[in-house]
Amino acid sequence: MTSPLNVIRDDIQAMTAYHVADLPEGFIKLDAMESPYHPFAASETLLDEWKELLAQSAINLYPNPATSGLQTALRQVFGIPESAQIALGNGSDELIQFLTMLVAKPGATMLAVEPSFVMYKHNAALYGMNYVGVPLNEDFTLNLPAVLAAIEQHNPSLIFITYPNNPTGVCFRREEVEAVIRAANGIVVVDEAYGAFSHDSFLSQAGKPDNLVIMRTVSKIGFAGIRLGYACGSPVVMNELAKILPPYNMNQLSLATAKFAMKHAEVIQQTVAALKAERERVFTELSHIGGLQAFPSEANFITVRVPDAQALYDALKAEKILIKKLHGAHPLLSQCLRLTIGSPEQNDAVLSVIRKLYR
Ligand SMILES: *Cc1c(COP(=O)(O)O)cnc(C)c1O
Repeated sequence: MTSPLNVIRDDIQAMTAYHVADLPEGFIKLDAMESPYHPFAASETLLDEWKELLAQSAINLYPNPATSGLQTALRQVFGIPESAQIALGNGSDELIQFLTMLVAKPGATMLAVEPSFVMYKHNAALYGMNYVGVPLNEDFTLNLPAVLAAIEQHNPSLIFITYPNNPTGVCFRREEVEAVIRAANGIVVVDEAYGAFSHDSFLSQAGKPDNLVIMRTVSKIGFAGIRLGYACGSPVVMNELAKILPPYNMNQLSLATAKFAMKHAEVIQQTVAALKAERERVFTELSHIGGLQAFPSEANFITVRVPDAQALYDALKAEKILIKKLHGAHPLLSQCLRLTIGSPEQNDAVLSVIRKLYR
């Protein structure tokens, strides 16, 4: 018998696995834009109701995402137009995967800006697509002329625009994104993973024009653990996507939890409002500390440039705080770190380490 590595793709063998932090007890985890709050923990009644719901879930039966009623609930809570169809994904990560698979004809190209969410490029590689990454400006705004030129030159089948962008937090100008949508022949996915924290959204435009898909997730608004993302677009695109999505990709517990969450959307809104207020407070505090640059964010994190990213990363780690070091991931992210906004106490802990280092 020869090694099974002989049959496994060389390009996959050359990859490194996505590293999920394995944190020792007592660490403050501010590396992955999770909410610091369990969404139902604040109310005993809500928590009990949810537990009861989970207990009653038909875990002996296959789920039926299409008839679960979740799409209707999402539509009502988030104002998704009737003309758009909604596809559910096991996290929007899964939808990125299947949207890529959908267009991955031989020679097809994916376009995204850089730095942006790493999973776009990863999926382009997995499905054999060409990938074009257009660098942002130094201040992380969109270089629209460069994007339009790249569209003209490469005629991409799939474009990802993250609105607001990760890992920078900056939200591009709406008119610029509209120009990208107008210029594209392929499918344009506006990834609004942080849409809840932003001043603006394309959700109400989902489905028009036909090539526009708006993608969202509940991960950043308190539900990273249930793995639910959704894509909203025209029937032209969504009917084809439906053919390749696994029929049972959502599980009963997630569906039940998400529907319950939509019924109590006000608890989500409260958390989002609190995190936005904290983001503003942390941004103001950071702006008062000399020697570092905080980039304006419309997400639940703030990206900062400091004199020595590794030194701050290590200093925070010594205080049992994990954040994301961006330095090294892209030339534009030189000496940058990404701080997820946590609870006021967690944010104060971060700020106190930063102050000690840079005052
Ligand atoms: C977090 C994130 C996602 C993934 O969300 P899941 O629904 O948890 O898979 C997608 N896009 C961007 C830009 C993100 O930051």
